[in-house]
Amino acid sequence: MRDDFLPYGRQWIDEDDIQAVVNVLKSNYLTTGPAIKEFEDQLKSVTGAEYVVAISNGTAALHAACFAAGIGEGDEVITTPMTFAATSNAVLYCGGTPVFADIDPETYNIDPKDIRRKITNKTKAIIPVHYTGQPCDMDEIMKIAKEHNLIVIEDAAHALGAEYKGRKIGSIGDMTTFSFHPVKPITTGEGGAITTNNKEFYDKLMLFRSHGITRDQEMLLNDNAAWYYEQHFLGYNYRMTDIQAALGCSQLNKLEFFLQKRREYAKMYSEAFKDLEGVIIPKQLDDTLSGWHLYVLQLDTDKIRPDRRVIFDELSIHNIGVNVHYIPVYYHPYYQKLGYKKGLCPNAEKLYERIITLPLFPKMSEEDIMYVIKIVKELVDTYRVG
Ligand SMILES: *Cc1c(COP(=O)(O)O)cnc(C)c1O
Repeated sequence: MRDDFLPYGRQWIDEDDIQAVVNVLKSNYLTTGPAIKEFEDQLKSVTGAEYVVAISNGTAALHAACFAAGIGEGDEVITTPMTFAATSNAVLYCGGTPVFADIDPETYNIDPKDIRRKITNKTKAIIPVHYTGQPCDMDEIMKIAKEHNLIVIEDAAHALGAEYKGRKIGSIGDMTTFSFHPVKPITTGEGGAITTNNKEFYDKLMLFRSHGITRDQEMLLNDNAAWYYEQHFLGYNYRMTDIQAALGCSQLNKLEFFLQKRREYAKMYSEAFKDLEGVIIPKQLDDTLSGWHLYVLQLDTDKIRPDRRVIFDELSIHNIGVNVHYIPVYYHPYYQKLGYKKGLCPNAEKLYERIITLPLFPKMSEEDIMYVIKIVKELVDTYRVG
């Protein structure tokens, strides 16, 4: 057994990253300086989007996107329960009502058929989440949105660098949000971004990031003096620092390398587990390129006794940093108090009982992967019935 703990995910910071941050610290601008624009420009080329707004974190990105979409009191927004609470919390921040559509049991992503069933005359937007980095069925989702005049906000916290039918994630929906938390595809410590091809959304997002205040001469209503600025709506201070943006630029230079490592390791897992009785490997779609943010192994709990917990706890004992992504959002006591009931999304609930996230991050070694494979195989063989 290894004696150091292997986390499920973690950042990779090298000397170039450190130097980039030090350079900003020695410069004139710690925030709202040139590194922000540089980072936004770099993200444009990675995502293929026309406009990018860097922001303080992925949750703020979702909040800003919901605001720009005009979500408010009385509006329903359809999303998946197989996500981090931040996705639907952003709808609540704006006074809207999250409506959960079930997942497809094969891809674990939101099921377009259930989106259709959940649409009412109050539906305003859809927030698909590219779970684990595997793109959702965007053709179908965009088609539904067009038919019902809905705004699509993609939560791509897992999917920077992922591709759907040859198109980069970040240039398909009306807006796409990203997170740069240390476990995500690249990191800025805390950080996020919104991409869009729509100038109106872009203008709103830029103001929302900074109190709703503008200094743009074209937009000022009451004066034009040199000191003058105006607040046009209630925004926030959601700005990213130049320290973070410079780290982001340096990290983006390594994105392709990071993705390559993730794909290589995910392939090693899937090769090792594809014929192991009692487990189900994540499905790979032919026309997408996953970002492999997470490797989620599904246990066939009809064959594992007593249940998922025994494998999870044993993996932890073996110093393997396992996790479960995710507890269906509406299971949280806060959502239960809002009136959401268990039973809402049976596929998501069933999956939740069966999944374990295995360690997957670029800085792991092949030996780390081999160790996880060996222990998983031993445990599944030990606890499998029949
Ligand atoms: C990480 C994450 C977020 C939130 O991003 P933060 O940067 O941590 O605020 C939102 N949605 C999903 C799916 C995430 O994984």
